[in-house]
Amino acid sequence: MKFKCHCGYLFVNNTDFLRFKGHITADQDLEELHNSVENYHISEKEYINALCNMRCIYQCPRCGMIFIDNDDGGFSVFVPARYVDMNSISEKVKKSPEEHYGENCRLLQSAGGDMWRGWIYGEWYDEKRSWEDVPLRRISINLNSREYDEYSKKHYDSLEEMKADYIRLADELAQKNLIRSARFWVNGKAVTELFREYS
Ligand SMILES: [Zn+2]
Repeated sequence: MKFKCHCGYLFVNNTDFLRFKGHITADQDLEELHNSVENYHISEKEYINALCNMRCIYQCPRCGMIFIDNDDGGFSVFVPARYVDMNSISEKVKKSPEEHYGENCRLLQSAGGDMWRGWIYGEWYDEKRSWEDVPLRRISINLNSREYDEYSKKHYDSLEEMKADYIRLADELAQKNLIRSARFWVNGKAVTELFREYS
């Protein structure tokens, strides 16, 4: 699922552990949800019903606007109080990077903050695919800490260099206990000897 924020940021909701997404449950539904987690004997239907009572909530990493899923294909949209004038938002964010997860845009990140254990993915393609201008050759990083952003901005010309960066980064993050898994693909094929799982 994709949708656009008023500031132009494109939300792409196509994977797990999204930094801009959360789930909210009405207080009136909390007991049902609690029971479904505690009680393994409930039926699959009851479990799904409890999960369905959760709504998705998104916060724009660029301007901080909040979107709550209405379950009818639309959203209830909330503007952060510090932004009063919509026009000033667009002026402000035009100058900011695509994603910055500034102080006011981190509401939906893990309670663990920068110590949340994320993942890295390396993807290398020899040739560009039909919808791309250049072949995909990058390391995607899902961490709350901004310390490693430079890696995800890097476009590689050499597969060996990219692998070396990937391994160095995975080792460093593992040492700091900031990573749960690392994955590497070449031309869409998993390179399992470079996969790492951290408990
Ligand atoms: Zn926005």
